[in-house]
Amino acid sequence: MSFEKLKLIEPIQKAITAEGYKIPTPIQRQAIPIILERKDVLGCAQTGTGKTAAFAIPILQLLYEAKDEIRSKKIINSLIVTPTRELAIQIGESFNAYGKYTGLTNAVIFGGVSQKAQTDKLAHGIDILIATPGRLLDLIQQRFIDLRNIKLFVLDEADRMLDMGFIHDVQKIISKLPVKRQSLFFSATMPPEIIKLANTILTHPIKIDITPEFKTVEAIRQAVYFVSKPDKKKLLLHILKTENISSALVFTRTKHGANLVAKYLIASKISADVIHSGKSQNARQRALNNFKTLHTKILVATDIAARGIDVERLSHVINFDIPNIPETYVHRIGRTGRAGLGGIALSFCDDEERAYLKDISKLINISIPIIHDHPYRISNNGVPRSEQLKAKIPVPNSKSGVPKKSGSFRFSKNKKRWGRKTNANKTKT
Ligand code: AMP
Repeated sequence: MSFEKLKLIEPIQKAITAEGYKIPTPIQRQAIPIILERKDVLGCAQTGTGKTAAFAIPILQLLYEAKDEIRSKKIINSLIVTPTRELAIQIGESFNAYGKYTGLTNAVIFGGVSQKAQTDKLAHGIDILIATPGRLLDLIQQRFIDLRNIKLFVLDEADRMLDMGFIHDVQKIISKLPVKRQSLFFSATMPPEIIKLANTILTHPIKIDITPEFKTVEAIRQAVYFVSKPDKKKLLLHILKTENISSALVFTRTKHGANLVAKYLIASKISADVIHSGKSQNARQRALNNFKTLHTKILVATDIAARGIDVERLSHVINFDIPNIPETYVHRIGRTGRAGLGGIALSFCDDEERAYLKDISKLINISIPIIHDHPYRISNNGVPRSEQLKAKIPVPNSKSGVPKKSGSFRFSKNKKRWGRKTNANKTKT
């Protein structure tokens, strides 16, 4: 199916062609006609599916067609609420790209920066507002924004919104919207509390389910390395030096961890930067731009900061730490392999993270292939291979995790190595 079949108006069709899009993604095929019919949508779709265009294109079209009524007024007609600043900026860029021949204008507002530039833009009059919840409520309270004329409302990444504790802000925003409006609700997952929230926002919605079961994007090749925690940095360096990786997004669980990894890479002469919520908005945007323009090879990120980062043709995602929430794994690796492009997702799993890996495999319903051939491999019992070789101990059978001569050797948790089984250490452990 081509975009022509979606009956898009000429200025939008022209912009889409300029973007290089040839065929609509499944969510676009389903959502665009429904939104153009002015129906509410409950969309279950993860990032990387082309979700932004699925709502931005029909919103632009509806506003363009109503433009004569609204052009002179430039009142805010459409509101998109999204959890993070990075996502807000990317959605703004999408509206700019798809709407560049429509004359429709937008503003992106988010916290952590001075509000002056944002309020100046609002004062000029805009058609579409893209906002994070906190700054939006702030500017409503200061009377820079009035939501009474909103005809189209989008709640994006609703599950993440809840995770980040924005539920009350979202409810407050909804209470300020006119009752008569069209609403679009998108979430990667649909747990009961999300359905409950959706029910308070939508009227007779059409359900679009792009990910009925949680699956990872099929185009992504996944692999896992078993490695001890202290060896993870060395393994990362080894992979970056031996594999053909032009740019990679590396995920750590904590901000501190992200800083340490970036520091280590820089000390090893690999260009790297960090993006996490402890950094100023300007520093984050600079890091993201340098990464997008390939000035920095590695961007080390925490989950919240990296949520929705859209880097065209990102080839590798590396999970330096395995996320403890399995859905997060899917979100992370969805940064690569976008819109059908191939990508590679590598995960470093230490002993404590094996349970997380198990949960992930269960969720995505595949067991991620293991890469055995690397210098920091550990056995199933958590002993680095280098240690085993040093101690001249048989390499444990990788399946069972026990030494081939299991009767003669045992693993000492205290000494963190294999040793002869004696009565002394038998009683100790
Ligand atoms: P999203 O899921 O909205 O974050 O979009 C993921 C990526 O897919 C973005 O880089 C878009 O520019 C790209 N994209 C969206 N729709 C299409 C399409 N129909 N053809 C090719 N690329 C697309």
